Amino acid sequence: MKYHLVTLGCQMNISDSGRVKTYIENLGYESTDNPHEADLLGVIACSVRQKAIDKVYNLIAVWNRQKGSRPFSTFLTGCILPDDREKFLKSFDMVFDMRDLTNFADMLAKHTHEGTYYPKLSREEQAYQMDYFWKLEGRQPDKFEAFVPIQNGCDKFCTYCAVPYTRGREVSRSSSEIVEEVKCLVNAGFKSITLLGQNVNSYGLDKKGKEISFAQLLDLIGRYGDESGKEFYVYFTSPHPRDMTDDVLETIAKYKCLGKWIHIPIQSGDTEMLKRMNRKYDIERYRSVIHSIRTILPTATIFTDIIVGFTGETLEEFENTRRAVLEFKYNMAFIAMYSPRPGAKSSQWVDDVPKDEKSRRYAVLSEDLKSVSSLYTASMVGKEFRILVNGHDRLDGYLSGLTEGKIAVRFKSENEALIGSFVNVKITKSSDFSAEGEMIYC
Ligand code: SF4
Repeated sequence: MKYHLVTLGCQMNISDSGRVKTYIENLGYESTDNPHEADLLGVIACSVRQKAIDKVYNLIAVWNRQKGSRPFSTFLTGCILPDDREKFLKSFDMVFDMRDLTNFADMLAKHTHEGTYYPKLSREEQAYQMDYFWKLEGRQPDKFEAFVPIQNGCDKFCTYCAVPYTRGREVSRSSSEIVEEVKCLVNAGFKSITLLGQNVNSYGLDKKGKEISFAQLLDLIGRYGDESGKEFYVYFTSPHPRDMTDDVLETIAKYKCLGKWIHIPIQSGDTEMLKRMNRKYDIERYRSVIHSIRTILPTATIFTDIIVGFTGETLEEFENTRRAVLEFKYNMAFIAMYSPRPGAKSSQWVDDVPKDEKSRRYAVLSEDLKSVSSLYTASMVGKEFRILVNGHDRLDGYLSGLTEGKIAVRFKSENEALIGSFVNVKITKSSDFSAEGEMIYC
């Protein structure tokens, strides 16, 4: 028996798909890239953008055209909005929450159309289901870069975001399991490991004193890194500015294996806008977080996420975001032009910034970003960096990789055996977001 699985969306979905594969293969299925020969066809969905939802409908329409000519079953799981579940059940044989993977063998056996899905679970019940899910072996999409989920769901309810409705409330994974998985990955040769969660720095709070804090979790991993004597980096994404505490940064400073790279979403540089986004911090609070990062981790690079053209964004509010980018000197910002996400609170508000104006703000902010990120890359010239080689560069005859702070660096080499290992590179040139150098042979 064969299965074909399509995964849409973010790193969390990619990470989840590794566990779904383990579960399905434990039932005796083999993976196939060819949907036409699969007995089981599944999608791990993302409901965050309309485009991703359209893709789900396109996929199932193509698959269902084969119904009648051969027997197969279809399922949908992942991030699905409550309002979409009934609609999707008209096209898929089974629709279920990732937490209900535990019932999948049963559903498959009955080939139910009733969809034993989405019961209103309490936080304790959600935690129980997630514990089962997290105990499955997490397949990694890459040979040296891995993702480890530490938490599922979100309690923040930002007005533009649908995650709290698709993934439920925050549930933390057991710290001993997380540390165990990190150790296994390091022993298996993984060099870059990212802890995943919607709000990693509120890790453990849902357990009300029965679990360690995020800083303590990092400390356990850091200590293991020192003891192991192996070279690897552990990162995390995403922390929330409201919950970022100095003890997290101090722990990162203490250990070599904890990557000096902080991805701290700002979303807007304007306090009034942050209120409309329900981000639960103001620009002063965000400024103090950046100050702590620069003080405690002076070599850290800082990445962020920004939305331009959110409902009601005035020119002055946008100018405040520009000021923030210039002040905080990000190394990278993932800038999104606002589009309402079905299910999120702001989707009920008028999307009143015209598309052309959003594009203009995007372009202006991108230029601001380049002007500050290039200061850092220029400062790399003449210095030596440890690079984790991750593949071929677009330029023939070059390999590329990332510094500890995730700045892309390319260097001349055709030695594929270096992919997945660390090398030293002396930087000779820089561009807006990346650098070029020469490998140093020891
Ligand atoms: S954007 Fe806000 S609501 Fe969405 S996952 Fe992040 S913190 Fe939670």
